[in-house]
Amino acid sequence: MSSQAFAADVMVVGAGPTGLALAAELRRLGVSIHIVDAQAEGANTSRAAVVHARTLEVLEPLGVTAHLLQDGLKVPTFRIRDRDNVLLSIDFSTIPSAYPFALMCPQDRTEAILLASLEKLGGKVDRPCDFLGFETEGSQVVATVRSDGIRRGIRSRWLVGCDGMHSRVRDVAQIAFEGAVYEQSFVLADVRMDWPGSREEVSLFLAPEGLLVVAPLPGDRFRIVATMDDAPVSPSLGDVNALLATRGPIAVRANVQDVLWSSRFRVHHRIATSPRKGRVLVCGDAAHVHSPAGGQGMNTGIQDAVSLAQALAETLRDGNETRIDDWATERHEVAARVVTLTDRLTRMGTARSPTAQKLRNAAIHFAGSLPMVRAALARNIAELPPR
Ligand SMILES: Cc1cc2nc3c(=O)[nH]c(=O)nc-3n(C[C@H](O)[C@H](O)[C@H](O)COP(=O)(O)OP(=O)(O)OC[C@H]3O[C@@H](n4cnc5c(N)ncnc54)[C@H](O)[C@@H]3O)c2cc1C
Repeated sequence: MSSQAFAADVMVVGAGPTGLALAAELRRLGVSIHIVDAQAEGANTSRAAVVHARTLEVLEPLGVTAHLLQDGLKVPTFRIRDRDNVLLSIDFSTIPSAYPFALMCPQDRTEAILLASLEKLGGKVDRPCDFLGFETEGSQVVATVRSDGIRRGIRSRWLVGCDGMHSRVRDVAQIAFEGAVYEQSFVLADVRMDWPGSREEVSLFLAPEGLLVVAPLPGDRFRIVATMDDAPVSPSLGDVNALLATRGPIAVRANVQDVLWSSRFRVHHRIATSPRKGRVLVCGDAAHVHSPAGGQGMNTGIQDAVSLAQALAETLRDGNETRIDDWATERHEVAARVVTLTDRLTRMGTARSPTAQKLRNAAIHFAGSLPMVRAALARNIAELPPR
């Protein structure tokens, strides 16, 4: 290894939304950082499409929220439907936040805005640079990375893995990642279509074949998400139209004209046993993964990152590590709540027997008639702290 110079107070592995938010917030708080990513450039696909109220709140001091609001589409309503019937209607306009809506914005745009914020604060992503492993030496961590075929060591006080679901940081730290994989796969597609519904609503359709989500995106696009037993690798226009025809509205049918991007993925529900091991921490998908129902993944990761930046900045100032332990405990509880919520939404959408489906629809309809339940669901999905 050619060098082992002290590089920064905090080394961040991964420049997805979690790593970018962490690095930018640390810079804002005056902490030195070194951020690496294995990819030569940032991802340019749509993926997570919703930014929730709590995420907009925590990104305010970075100036990121104003840019997201410029680019995103405000959607005040989330409805659960059985074909043309509304089973439950959630109104975000009543949540106690300055951002009483879900903001639809493709993930590549959110990442570009976070990167611009980091660069404005003097940060830069070291890429392509592969994190290989680390060793702890007293109160410092020496990470081994490789770029241009050359290995080097990077010394820091804290190492944070924001390196996604297959996190090498988590593996090398030997933090267990407990959970399982859903049997069904998920279809994702960004489309242009004639849509009989409102562009002010995200609709979740419960059908015998599985769930279907239709969400408006900025411009004239829509995001489609559906569960399937055996999804095609790249869902085609015909595949997406078939999903809408068999699960979506009946009175006036939707008609897709264009598939702009589509993908299939298997979803895991897993949580790291602890987000901290010594001077190594994990955040975002490296610490928790779950179903995309409710659009919580990227949001939870960004919120992990912003709160960790604050805990690290204070700990680096006065040496009191209790805050890092408190952060780890709190974020582990949040991740467990998110996995439970998204698991309920997913299982509810994949009930198979007609009797179970009838009971489910009746229960949702009843719950939807209770204003307190609707308000609690709105807060929960918006990721606002419990009262
Ligand atoms: C097809 C698809 C669709 C999705 N749809 C939704 C959705 O609709 N709603 C939702 O909420 N979520 C969705 N997600 C999940 C969402 O994209 C993630 O929750 C989010 O990207 C997590 O951000 P992250 O920064 O924690 O991890 P990631 O975005 O995975 O970023 C990790 C980064 O770490 C880098 N990295 C990995 N290993 C190394 C290494 N060894 N060295 C250096 N760098 C490394 C990677 O290059 C990457 O840039 C989707 C994901 C996919 C793949």
